[in-house]
Amino acid sequence: MIFAKQAMLSTGWAQNVRLTVNSGVITAVDADQTSQPGDVIVDTLLPALANLHSHSFQRAMAGMTEYRMAGKDSFWTWRDLMYRFTAHLTPEHIEAIAAFVFLEMQEAGYASVGEFHYIHHQPGGTPYDDLGELSSRIAAAAAITGIGLTHLPVLYTYGGAGQVALEPGQARFGNSVDRFNELVACAQRAVSKLPADCRVGIAPHSLRATSPDDLAAVLRAHPAGPTHIHIAEQPKEVADISAWLGARPVEWLLDNVDVTNDWCLIHATHMTTGETRDMARSGAVAGLCPITEANLGDGPFNGPAYLEAGGAFGIGSDSNVLISLTEELRTLEYSQRLRDVARNVMVVGEGSVGEVLYTGAARGGAQALGRASGEIAVGQLADLVAIDSADPALCALPTHQLLDGLVFAAKDRIVTDVWSAGRHAVKGGRHVQRDQIVDGYRSAMQSLMASL
Ligand code: ZN
Repeated sequence: MIFAKQAMLSTGWAQNVRLTVNSGVITAVDADQTSQPGDVIVDTLLPALANLHSHSFQRAMAGMTEYRMAGKDSFWTWRDLMYRFTAHLTPEHIEAIAAFVFLEMQEAGYASVGEFHYIHHQPGGTPYDDLGELSSRIAAAAAITGIGLTHLPVLYTYGGAGQVALEPGQARFGNSVDRFNELVACAQRAVSKLPADCRVGIAPHSLRATSPDDLAAVLRAHPAGPTHIHIAEQPKEVADISAWLGARPVEWLLDNVDVTNDWCLIHATHMTTGETRDMARSGAVAGLCPITEANLGDGPFNGPAYLEAGGAFGIGSDSNVLISLTEELRTLEYSQRLRDVARNVMVVGEGSVGEVLYTGAARGGAQALGRASGEIAVGQLADLVAIDSADPALCALPTHQLLDGLVFAAKDRIVTDVWSAGRHAVKGGRHVQRDQIVDGYRSAMQSLMASL
């Protein structure tokens, strides 16, 4: 039982709420109650967000790519550095880094993660004896942290648009469609040992890393979803796909594939207004990663047209250069304000920006990960976050402005408790396995840095 002085329910704010959770699912929600002995008592309870897009290993290179080199740095030079880094990662490193990253996500207020997982093989490209070795490592990191995992093994077959051969730096990612299907089966076995809310989807990496025929084949083999794809992060990607397939990436995908609400289009950054409206109408979730998109110089999302057309969106931490839920949300809004020279952009008509961002990302993130969560109601997974409304950042705000305070004025330390499908992973602002996981991460980084 959880008792909250106030809670944002699917029906709106309520006071003195008692929540019953059974097997990870909310089975009763009662307002205007008094707390009972044994209740976990919190201040303000919200539905916890899903982090819909992560490459956990990239956390380990945060801060290593911010040095300006001769010539103009770009996304593509960043990618070369990232490839060189991945050559040194062992399965033990990958597990320790993922566990630390998942811990940081939970302490920031996320209950679940979509791990878009593309390192599959040994350096040089030879598969491990167990094809699913590294998927098992991600599953082990989910097990120790208790995070709700949607594991997304990545199909990565080609080095660039037009079925170009993989570069040496991409050898650890590569699979044919047949071997990818075997890999997904391995991943499903690994994830089946986790709690029942965890699941496996698929992620064709991008249009440039697959081909139309291969994409059709994997979608036939895995019709259930969720299906995630990087779609239009960089202008060069749009130009390359246009030159090869005769249409811009979002335009081509919507015209040639049955994109439904099981889909999540990551970095739907470079879209025409027509693509933006068509994507919104498809029901797919726009997977926005505002901190990473700013860090990599990708560009701002076309938010106003997308919201106007009723599009679903969620938030991901992608490169994990910084894991902060509050900063992801405000960076999304600030990217819009800076482009439009305007205030309060991510709202249709009138309303609270914080509420639109938070509740929209809660619903869209859950949809993208295939989780029955995103709001507090009977039958939903207990993906919950408690924040402290008495924190100086929020103490002057009435309830209806709390989400604006959370998004624009607060830091992640405002989070006191997080439950992932009822697993109480963060208590008093600290992950319950923090010491062990941080020690493991420090040792892994020491070993990794010695190998560089
Ligand atoms: Zn990504």
